[in-house]
Amino acid sequence: MRIYKFGGASVKDAAGVRNVLKVLQTMGYENLGIVVSAMGKTTNDLEDIIYSYQKNDPAYLDLIDNLHHKHEQIIEGLEMPVEGIEELCLSRFRESGIKKDIKSIMESLKGEMLRNQSRNYSFLYDQVVSHGELLSTKIVAAFFNACGIPVLWKDARQLIKTDRKYRDAGVNWLESEKLIANSCQGQLFITQGFIGSDDNGFTTTLGREGSDYTAAILAYCLNGSGVTIWKDVPGVLNADPRVFEQTVLLNKIPYNEAIELAFYGASVIHPKTLQPLQGKEIPLYVKSFIHPRNEGTVITAVETIEPLTPCYIVRKNMVFLKMSSRDFSVIGENNISDIFQELSSHKMQVGLIQNSAISFSLCVEDKYAKINELLKDLELRYKVSHVEGVALYTVRHYDGDAIEFIESGKSVLLKQRAQETLQLVVKE
Ligand code: ASP
Ligand code: MG
Repeated sequence: MRIYKFGGASVKDAAGVRNVLKVLQTMGYENLGIVVSAMGKTTNDLEDIIYSYQKNDPAYLDLIDNLHHKHEQIIEGLEMPVEGIEELCLSRFRESGIKKDIKSIMESLKGEMLRNQSRNYSFLYDQVVSHGELLSTKIVAAFFNACGIPVLWKDARQLIKTDRKYRDAGVNWLESEKLIANSCQGQLFITQGFIGSDDNGFTTTLGREGSDYTAAILAYCLNGSGVTIWKDVPGVLNADPRVFEQTVLLNKIPYNEAIELAFYGASVIHPKTLQPLQGKEIPLYVKSFIHPRNEGTVITAVETIEPLTPCYIVRKNMVFLKMSSRDFSVIGENNISDIFQELSSHKMQVGLIQNSAISFSLCVEDKYAKINELLKDLELRYKVSHVEGVALYTVRHYDGDAIEFIESGKSVLLKQRAQETLQLVVKE
């Protein structure tokens, strides 16, 4: 079996959904499992709904209505005659009862929120945000069926069993494997990315952007022959095209290299997604949903990236910290352990460390705006200098040209070189 995953951007409007249909018609759909995320920015909209609900603002009900309306507009867009879609498909779609299905999902969301007694934010979050994927898969399934692709709609909560760690649930592989193998083997099916359920049947989610992971779980449990993630880019590039003018498409990437790139901050694929695939050597393809026949990228069991070219990763808005002891003594293990305790308790994400006898330097991401608290605590015991708004550049497979290119016109605060990886902290 193969698994295809379509993200929110690919189904953000009616044209997007029609394009997904075209991808299937072009590439074939035998023995295929399809994973779809919530449409466009729906998950963010649902987060706003929870935020407003938590503030006891009744406006959350209007926000639900807005979201309902957005989905109705997509359905209406799909009902419009366009070239390439036969009238018969449109009439079957209009008669499919999809508007009623969407309405009842929205009503049950409202009902659940009105009745909710739980004070557990993460629990509530999962019960609410999961509706985005339910809506999108219902619409896509109805449209495919109307257009002659007989796809079965499956509830991912009956396939993927997890623990009760809401918002970041851990998969129960044994249970899930049984359920998935029984229900999906040899079927043409569509299901929701990102969601699962715990042992009580409550909805859980696998963490934001978790739909890729769902695709990997399904492929793993079905001993799939491959996963394809369909994107609005031609594949995995060696640098972010929003930051770098010239980019190169990577044709092949070893699993471990993809995990490394993700670790340094490349928005390639979440490492969680790669691990199950690597375990069974199932290839992961990243391809363009605009040009589905183009090769794209494959992440698989190869020795090295192809073409072998420097890969650039930039993390902006980082903070550079340099610490030394107050009494000129050396920075020892106990200091380092103490510093890491502080970093962890202030939820800092560390991008780079470097130590010498008398100083300890770090580049951290201040995701939760806690830098001032951290500085206050560290300054009790260390001399600390800090620079905010720095960028951390990582270059994998660097060469002389790459170093020159990265350094030019910037002031380098710190440079660290390992065999395959060069990292620079710069103030731009
Ligand atoms: N809809 C979810 C999110 O936006 C999951 C996903 O897109 O992968 O995080
Ligand atoms: Mg999404």
